[in-house]
Amino acid sequence: MNWVLVSAFLILAILSLRQRRRTREEWRQIGRIIEAIGEGSRPKSFILHGEKALQQIGIGLEKLADQRDRLESQISREGFNLQAILASMVEGVMVVDVDGVIRLVNDSLLALFDLKTTPVNRGALHTLRDAAIEAVLRKALATGEVQFREIEMIASKRHLALSAAPVRDSAGAVLGVAATFHDISRVKQLEEVRRDFVANVSHELRTPLSIFQGYVEMLRENPELPREEISSTLQVLSKHSTRLNALVEDLLSIARLESRQDGLKLAPWDAARFLSSVEEDWRLKFQAQEVRFCIEIAPDLPSICVDHFKLEQVFNNLLENALKYTPAGGSVTLRAAQAPASGELSGTDVEIRVIDTGSGIPAADLPHIFERFYRADKARSRALGGTGLGLSIVKHIVQIHGGSVRAESVVGSGSSFIIRLPGATA
Ligand code: ADP
Repeated sequence: MNWVLVSAFLILAILSLRQRRRTREEWRQIGRIIEAIGEGSRPKSFILHGEKALQQIGIGLEKLADQRDRLESQISREGFNLQAILASMVEGVMVVDVDGVIRLVNDSLLALFDLKTTPVNRGALHTLRDAAIEAVLRKALATGEVQFREIEMIASKRHLALSAAPVRDSAGAVLGVAATFHDISRVKQLEEVRRDFVANVSHELRTPLSIFQGYVEMLRENPELPREEISSTLQVLSKHSTRLNALVEDLLSIARLESRQDGLKLAPWDAARFLSSVEEDWRLKFQAQEVRFCIEIAPDLPSICVDHFKLEQVFNNLLENALKYTPAGGSVTLRAAQAPASGELSGTDVEIRVIDTGSGIPAADLPHIFERFYRADKARSRALGGTGLGLSIVKHIVQIHGGSVRAESVVGSGSSFIIRLPGATA
């Protein structure tokens, strides 16, 4: 009897030991799968060896892993889309919550505000240090309506167009504000140039017109004036009408160049023929002022195409200046050669220099002489009938040919205007 009991006990002990070992093994399998899912990786297999219930657990865990994978790829897809859109925007984007804390920005915003580190989780006012922007954000939050405003940033001299739109949840409650900053500095600059231009034109027109009016009235009120006086008055009127004419001509040139109405009529350039025809046009004027005129053309000039009429305008303006500022006994040289290759500029360009031995241009004025209405010596330019527009027309024409123009000068020794025109293969 005892023997039977002992045997039964032993069998039970062995069975329980086996069961414990199996259960431990099963838990280990489950543990391995859960650990893999927890680490974000996918287990090699979800098959659990054991009873049916255990296999059910394996199937359940596989479903869980599938769902997690789906969610992850959905999140990364949406994340990619949002980030890609934000990163590709030229506008600066910033999302601020109801407490004024920045929740999201894109790279353009960092660049616009010169931010070296991400401002996310920091206050908008503290980060951007601009009370006007803060006020717009606050108003969008308070009213729940889109706000627009132009912001001038004093330090960076930038002009920004800010629009701030409330962000709402599905129930319509305002969660924050999405602000976009558009850099409109260039537009503002163009507006300013245009305003200055109109002011300058009005100023240039006012002087000769008021002189005109004064003299005409004087003639009307004094019909019995002696002949000599009438003649000298008419001379003054003629001088001012010439000036007005020159101004209107230059303004029309600028308007035509800007509107590109007539486009460029490009044709191959024959340097020798072109420059000698220019010389012919100017020979008498140079002789009358006793200024020597020379032409130097290097052999083997690269071939270029130009708009002959417009290039003539360039040389007429440059030679008129050279003659204006070069006293008798001096000289003006037109020199055409192959331009030296430098940096990205090709060696197939042509360089034409207009060199005079005149009064020269002070170094402080040199960077500005191509600006409209800029005159180094205002009184002298006006007295000589200058409009202050000649060089800006020169620059414009050279630029639409794809070329460049610059000036070098030494006061008292003379000036050189250097034009570079791109070669046909450039
Ligand atoms: P302007 O009608 O007054 O000549 P430009 O635009 O042609 O206007 O020239 C701008 C200014 O540059 C001139 O007012 C003059 O002060 C200076 N300048 C231009 N060319 C010369 C030159 N060859 N020598 C000296 N000064 C020059």
